[in-house]
Formats: sequence, C-alpha cells, structure tokens
Amino acid sequence: MTQNMLNLPSFKIIDMYESESDYRFLVETILPPPTYCPKCGTIANLYKHGKKKQLFFDLPMHAKRVGIYVNRQRYKCKECKETFFENLTDIDINRSVTNRLINWIQEASLEKTFTSVAEEIGVDEKTVRNIFNDYVDELEAQTDFRTPKWLGIDEVHLLKNYNCVITDVENKSVIDILRKRNKDTVISYLSKLQDIDKIELVAMDMWNPYKSAVNTMIPHAKIVIDKFHVVKLANEALEKIRKANRQNVTVKERRQLMRDRYVLLTRSKDLTDFDDQIKLQVWTQNFPLLGQAYELKKQFFDIYEAESINDAYKLYQN
Ligand SMILES: [Zn+2]
Repeated sequence: MTQNMLNLPSFKIIDMYESESDYRFLVETILPPPTYCPKCGTIANLYKHGKKKQLFFDLPMHAKRVGIYVNRQRYKCKECKETFFENLTDIDINRSVTNRLINWIQEASLEKTFTSVAEEIGVDEKTVRNIFNDYVDELEAQTDFRTPKWLGIDEVHLLKNYNCVITDVENKSVIDILRKRNKDTVISYLSKLQDIDKIELVAMDMWNPYKSAVNTMIPHAKIVIDKFHVVKLANEALEKIRKANRQNVTVKERRQLMRDRYVLLTRSKDLTDFDDQIKLQVWTQNFPLLGQAYELKKQFFDIYEAESINDAYKLYQN
C-alpha cells in the first residue's frame, strides 16, 4: 500500500513517518547495480562501500510536505579506488528534490512568491529561486531574440510588484518581462541586447528611469511617449480646472456641471448630439477659464492628427 503512496517506480518504501504537516519516507532504490565505474570506466570491478542517508523533497501530498530519505548505496572501484554513489533516476541531485518537484516549482513560482512556495514544500527559499532562475534561463535559451526596430518599455502589475515589460511595438509581441522597473534593471537588460543600434524608436510611458536608461544605452534612439499617457494628462488638467471652477458656481450649477462633465471630456467633433453641443457652448462661454482649458486640450489632441511633423510642431508651439 505504502508503495503506491510515492508513485516513484525506482524506490521501495522501507519506513514512513507522518506528522500534522509532514510526511517522511525512508526508501531504497530498486534499480539494478551499476555495471561500470563512472570515474575510470572499468567494467564489473565494483563492490559495495556502505550506505548514506540523504534527504530529498518531493511534491506535497494531502496538503503535507513530503521528504524522502534515500538510503543511498555507495560503491568503490577496485581499479581506481574511487568511490561513488548509485544513480537516482527520479531525483535532481544538484537541487536535492525529485524531478517532478522541479516542474511543480517552476509552475508554482509563476503565481506565488518564492517564500510561500518554499514554505509549502519544505525546501529553503534559495532553492526555489535557483530552480526558477534555471527555468527562466532555459526558456530564454529557447527564445528567438531579435532586437526590434521599435522597442516598447511598459509595465505590468504582477504579484504586488511593478514589472517592466519589453515589447516589439512593430510586431505587437512581448519580448521579455523584467522583475523590476528601475534604471539599473533596464540598463542591464539593454546592455545584453544584440545590435542595439538597430533600435530607432523607443515607446514608453512617463517613467523617468526608463527615459534615463534609454538615453544612457541607446542615445541615438528617439523616445516616443505613448499617446494614451499623454492625453490622459491633458484630460486630468482639464478636470483640475473644472473642479477648481466649482467654487465660482451655485450649488445647482455645480450639480449640472458634474452631470455635464462628459461633454467637456469628449472632443467637440465627437459630440454628435445637438443638445450636447449646446451644453458645451454654455459651459465654455459662461466660464472663460474652462473654455480656454477646453480649447487648449483640443489643440493638444490635434497634434496627434497632424498630417506632417511640421503641422504637429506648429500646434505644439501654440
Ligand atoms: Zn574506477
């Protein structure tokens, strides 16, 4: 019965101990003995040279952590006098965990912190981090890294952290995700890119560390601020003025202004409803400051519709 509990065909279970939070198994292998010495290659000249108990961790079972003590056979070679341990086919010797636990940690680390993954299976946080880093290296080695002509630097909020997302803007694909979004992280990433001279444009939001990293590493590249972030600021500026204007109006007008705010936030050419156009006119004419702010925002938006750089520049100077 206990044999089935581990479901690892290379081991037979000798003993088992169970506590509230942990399982501990004592096992031995049921693999055939080695036929040659791994140190010198000599065939069939080995003898048994004691056993040693080694601890490896495995997948959690019934919400308990699982540790496997392997009573591991040691051999000595008569030819070269070297000693070595028997092979363990289900174990990753370097990380002291089962092979199937490696896969489990890789998946779990995408969703949880290293500390909570470590806590759940009984290994230390460093082991989890190392296994995950190996995994990332493995994935990176499989990825085709072509440096894009238009690089995007963005961010995404994952696991309570801001992560920096590197994209290929032209081909609309994600190239990489960096764990931090500070200047050093971005510089270190950019320094590893091949053919960095190929990058012509870098699109980003208004996060200064990105700008300063790009200026340091690819000074020739033009920086483009995503339109979304720019027009958001223009809308926010208009909202600020609308709110400041509340002191100058009656309670009734204030309520009306709150209800009508959408006409101020919509571009006049998109206000298809005649009533809305009238509302806009009333607000902008009765409150000149609001009218001026609305007009400035409109001109600002027009920059994005300019047919040429020169037109855009003229609008910008206004
Ligand atoms: Zn040997």
